[in-house]
Amino acid sequence: MATSALRFQGTVQSRGEASDYLEAAGDVVLIKRGGRPRWLLLSCPCGCGEEFPINLDPRAGPAWRLYMSRHTGLSLYPSVWRESGCESHYIIWNDKIFLFGRYEDNFDSATETYGYTQLVEAVSERLSDTGLISFSDIAEDLGEVPWDVLMVCRRLVRKGFAREGVGEQRGSFGRL
Ligand SMILES: [Zn+2]
Repeated sequence: MATSALRFQGTVQSRGEASDYLEAAGDVVLIKRGGRPRWLLLSCPCGCGEEFPINLDPRAGPAWRLYMSRHTGLSLYPSVWRESGCESHYIIWNDKIFLFGRYEDNFDSATETYGYTQLVEAVSERLSDTGLISFSDIAEDLGEVPWDVLMVCRRLVRKGFAREGVGEQRGSFGRL
């Protein structure tokens, strides 16, 4: 898995304008219209040179959620799978791009996120002895970036405080 920096180039009003700002792999522009985020236009991080639009508007179809934090930067949920062209799979988290091989889906980060200790506590409180809860539901509940919550859950598993489901239940966690 390769990690590279995401470079936010600014906010514009149209797709046409956005292209002018994309020069290198990992450059990204936000397209906002009528005060609403519509698209994120990304120069594909794999280096294939294609511009890849990511829908942020739920009214226009399946949409990704953009998180912008002054502490940690830009995150996007869920991950992005390109179905055509280079077929890259990547995660955008805290101003970094995690680029996966085609069938790889495990990831972690050495960086501890802003407010990490409080997040560990808040996540631990949401885990139950009896059932499993998905990391995205915990994140929604806490108003946190899902990748931050996933990292915390996986660390709790490694420390022996939590368990992760298998198969379909992968990404769902419970208390041990
Ligand atoms: Zn690509």
